[in-house]
Amino acid sequence: MNLAECKKNIISKFADEVLVLEDVETKKVTTFGLGTALPLLVEPQSVQALTQLLAFLKENKIAWYILGCGSNTVFPDEPLQKVVIRLGKRFNKACFWNTDVSSLYEQDNILESLEHFLNLETPLQANIAVGETVYALVFARTMLVAFANKMCANALAGLEYGNGIPSTIGGAVLINAGAHGWAIGSITEAVWILDHEGVLKILKKEDLVFSYRNSNIPTDAVVLAVLLKFTKDDPEQVQARRKHGLDYRKAHQPINLPSAGSIFKNPSGTTNNAQEQTVLPPAGKLIDLAGLKGFRVGGCEVSSLNANWIVKVDDSAKTSDLLEIMRVVREKVKEQSGIELQSEVKIL
Ligand SMILES: Cc1cc2nc3c(=O)[nH]c(=O)nc-3n(C[C@H](O)[C@H](O)[C@H](O)COP(=O)(O)OP(=O)(O)OC[C@H]3O[C@@H](n4cnc5c(N)ncnc54)[C@H](O)[C@@H]3O)c2cc1C
Repeated sequence: MNLAECKKNIISKFADEVLVLEDVETKKVTTFGLGTALPLLVEPQSVQALTQLLAFLKENKIAWYILGCGSNTVFPDEPLQKVVIRLGKRFNKACFWNTDVSSLYEQDNILESLEHFLNLETPLQANIAVGETVYALVFARTMLVAFANKMCANALAGLEYGNGIPSTIGGAVLINAGAHGWAIGSITEAVWILDHEGVLKILKKEDLVFSYRNSNIPTDAVVLAVLLKFTKDDPEQVQARRKHGLDYRKAHQPINLPSAGSIFKNPSGTTNNAQEQTVLPPAGKLIDLAGLKGFRVGGCEVSSLNANWIVKVDDSAKTSDLLEIMRVVREKVKEQSGIELQSEVKIL
């Protein structure tokens, strides 16, 4: 079945349950905005619709890609022959508890309970004492920055350094997004997924393994929701950490130009945290030492502010420009230091 037939089938089978969008410009759904418009982007509005949609795609052997907010994704210059799935807007939602949450794991019917939480209104309580714990069940399409701002404004510690990461919660937990020695895995208590067999599962803390920009969440699963743990702290200290992270970004990252953030992983999992022991230099330092700051191909360029960021400097920029820069960077860094850089960005 080709994508045009697939689109017709999705419209007739799922009606209002799956929103169908065609020829979606990549600059509307990714931060880099490279590549050709997406032929087919679909948004399931419920867990059940997603489950049925994946079963339909599997049955018809149609490839798909799950997209968050596209801050770590680059689409190809040719039209993508895959269905791109983005969770519907209902999945931008969070529920809060400051009591024991163990009952959340004891659900026989995960589908029913997720739909229940998607409809539940449990606002954040104002009268929480310093040191008390707050749990948030955050659905995967929720934007990390907006959510982190809300938690920081309520002096709930846990996401201060997540504040400048333009990610969805789903995308962040999958790759254990982080900064300044902090990463989201450190506050993750459980993850609700739909696995590649179409089975809904809860991965509890003891099942989860997080490492530098990585987790053991299967890459062919869809993250639906994440349980995060926060601690009420002194408001000034929370705001100071938040500001420290944001000030660092403004000074050291070209955040005003389209990009996908850091392009390569730091070779030994090094971080920007000066207190952490580093074994190998971070990727940016290696690229700088290879003399590649400002290196340009077509409309993409190695940033002069931070050599591990490749930025879009012209609207004509293509994915092939980015790939060529990455090839040269890898080659020169290998020649100079013997280190093979690994991409941090998902390039389709
Ligand atoms: C300006 C800027 C600053 C950045 N700063 C940082 C930083 O400080 N730290 C950091 O770690 N990263 C940073 N990044 C990179 C990026 O924001 C993170 O990798 C982010 O977590 C990607 O999330 P996303 O929702 O945009 O994912 P996408 O780019 O949409 O997808 C990335 C991967 O996650 C998968 N995915 C997305 N949603 C789901 C889901 N619901 N279920 C299963 N898989 C899913 C995709 O299939 C893909 O494999 C930055 C990027 C930019 C542009």
